[in-house]
Amino acid sequence: MLVWQVAIPGPMASGPLRAVDRPVPEPGPGQVRLKVAACGVCRTDLHLAEGDLAPRRPHTVPGHEVVGYVDAIGPAPSTRAGGAQPAVRLGDRLGIAWLAGTDGTCAYCRRGAENLCPASVYTGWDVDGGYAQYAVVDATYAYPLPAGYSDGELAPLLCAGIVGYRALLRADLPPGGRLGIYGFGASAHLAAQVALAQGAIVHVMTRSERARQLALELGAASVTGAYDSPPEPLDAAVLFAPVGDLVPAALAALDRGGTLSIAGIHLTDIPPLNYRRHLFQERTVRSTTANTRADGQEFLAVAARHRLAVTVTPYSLAQADRALDDLARDRVNGAAVLFPDDG
Ligand SMILES: [Zn+2]
Ligand SMILES: [Zn+2]
Repeated sequence: MLVWQVAIPGPMASGPLRAVDRPVPEPGPGQVRLKVAACGVCRTDLHLAEGDLAPRRPHTVPGHEVVGYVDAIGPAPSTRAGGAQPAVRLGDRLGIAWLAGTDGTCAYCRRGAENLCPASVYTGWDVDGGYAQYAVVDATYAYPLPAGYSDGELAPLLCAGIVGYRALLRADLPPGGRLGIYGFGASAHLAAQVALAQGAIVHVMTRSERARQLALELGAASVTGAYDSPPEPLDAAVLFAPVGDLVPAALAALDRGGTLSIAGIHLTDIPPLNYRRHLFQERTVRSTTANTRADGQEFLAVAARHRLAVTVTPYSLAQADRALDDLARDRVNGAAVLFPDDG
């Protein structure tokens, strides 16, 4: 089968990804194999390709927004912490997301914070992901997916959607509150719709003219440039752009008691903060680290209730390097999604 692997991490211009032929993987105990129908291209894939995130293992296949159909089921696991195997049948449509495994036994896992498990492993970083025609996943980490969405529309929900949702939860937005969104790519455009569905007033700060247009179409109250001030103080903000320079601007835009939630796994350095201008009056800044499976299930339930508009820019699997390059150059509208069956 055709897969892409991270050959030598480096700038996209250096061609860090290589397309190779590999045998179709066999599902191990407790695993299922999906025939991949769509795989989203996440900014984290770009960080892995370019080496902002150090490789955990050589030649890993990226891609952790995988939608596919079960075409093989591995043997039952001998023993497993965490209870019974989910009932999975051949032909089921499932999703594979970023979190691929945890130990289930550490203090973080036991208190419901499995996203912080030191033994956690990730799709497309520790284990092979979905820039491929087939992918295997531990069945307990796969998600059943809501009806009413195409395969391509579901793919970006699996990381952009879920992690954006967790970042939104961590912003502690009060009901009907004023939310600032910094950066408006795949994750932000989904989180914005969840916030709007919950009655928030949403202000979007982003440099991309096309993204500002999309934000207005989705119902944003205002759009401005990335570093501009929103028209009113914010109760909460989420920083989606991986740009530390935006942290002081976002903190300065918060009202008293407001919270800034940083969504990304990677952020450029944050410039020095001024206590009075950026933090005093009980403003808070927080990071977001991946997500728990409970976050994922909750977000997908929200997506089942509120039909989210998912903007997809399609590519064939063979064009994965071009898709990542377009993402690096901010040329992607909404979410880039790879389709293995196209070409
Ligand atoms: Zn753990
Ligand atoms: Zn991701």
